[in-house]
Amino acid sequence: MPTNPYGWIDKSLAALHRAHRYRSVQAIDGMAGPMIQRQGQTLVNFASNDYLGLTSDPRLAAAAIAAIHTYGTGSTGSRLLSGHRELHRELEQAIAALKGTDDAIVFSSGYLANLGAIAALVGTPDVVLGDEYNHSSLKTGARASGAAALDYRHGDMAHLEELLSIHRAQYRRCLITTDSVFSMDGDLCPLPEILELAETYNAMVLVDEAHGTGVFGTNGSGVVAHLGCAGRPLITVGTLSKALGSLGGYVTGSQTLIDFLRNRAPGWIYTTGLTPAATAAALAAVQIIQQEPNRRRTLWQNVAIVSQGLDRLFEAAAPPQLKPLPSASPIISLEGPSARAVLNVSQQLQQVGLWVPAVRPPTVPSSRLRITLMATHQPHQLDQLMQALSATATIAV
Ligand SMILES: *Cc1c(COP(=O)(O)O)cnc(C)c1O
Repeated sequence: MPTNPYGWIDKSLAALHRAHRYRSVQAIDGMAGPMIQRQGQTLVNFASNDYLGLTSDPRLAAAAIAAIHTYGTGSTGSRLLSGHRELHRELEQAIAALKGTDDAIVFSSGYLANLGAIAALVGTPDVVLGDEYNHSSLKTGARASGAAALDYRHGDMAHLEELLSIHRAQYRRCLITTDSVFSMDGDLCPLPEILELAETYNAMVLVDEAHGTGVFGTNGSGVVAHLGCAGRPLITVGTLSKALGSLGGYVTGSQTLIDFLRNRAPGWIYTTGLTPAATAAALAAVQIIQQEPNRRRTLWQNVAIVSQGLDRLFEAAAPPQLKPLPSASPIISLEGPSARAVLNVSQQLQQVGLWVPAVRPPTVPSSRLRITLMATHQPHQLDQLMQALSATATIAV
């Protein structure tokens, strides 16, 4: 019986094509900013996580280049062997100071920070309760840890409490996980309520500030501070790759937590230390986000302009093909009736010089256009977006 053990891959890809779920990469040429070049076309970029425009900041580039000249391009080993530099420690202390926590530990990516922290904190005798819209790294981390992993309905505190009351007693430890800013919807988690339930049910809380750091809080500390929860007993995870314009991830918390992770997080122990360039760029960014609150102010002005514009637009259009999802951040999603419909609108916007990506299942439960705003978007670029959307909202999708 001659069979091809890899034949299923072709079938699987064909199924993705049929469902309009096939994806591929497209190269961006040159510097990433509010305007990008792609396949010879100039586009206004509404798809970047570079909220404050720091990726192209010459100070980050200078810090990265200086670190390469001083230390080389790689860190040559794991932090516990040959890979540790004083620069890593400086970055960790700067992040801890920004967050107002005892200490911090940096990982090679935000994804790895979640996998590493969760695997260190819980195992088979434990339970993880996560918001159903959590980022993939939280979900994968919970599954990989061997703990029982249960989802509560998005932002639904009654459901979280129900799960706690039914399941908590059967497990040794309990960890509640949530995004602070939900990356595909742009709304915030109800952190004060989560912390209250955690206290009642003796549970740990891990908050993912990937889209919060640099964007929320008076000094850019994040949503934890914005919601008045700084200083509460919790574990914060984040990335160096979004508002901080570099690459890497981190965990912040108590001295004992961070000390424990240095000893027990496999995703930190058995991987090479962050590169000197990424470390130095992130360190420069942590300083800039605190010293230049104007960047945040401009970003939030841009958010206000677009959300007010969308409100006006969707009051006028009847029946609207696209529906704005509740947002409290620079991430604004417009839900569409189908994967094909949002792909069509995304392509129409591209034809007029705007890059607004379509995000489809399985990344999200419902297809949508996802707009992300930056401090470096100019008013005329936001006007262009509103005008193009008002043209597409009235046509058949
Ligand atoms: C981007 C993101 C991550 C992963 O961070 P990387 O540094 O890109 O690996 C984790 N959690 C959330 C919520 C994210 O949006």
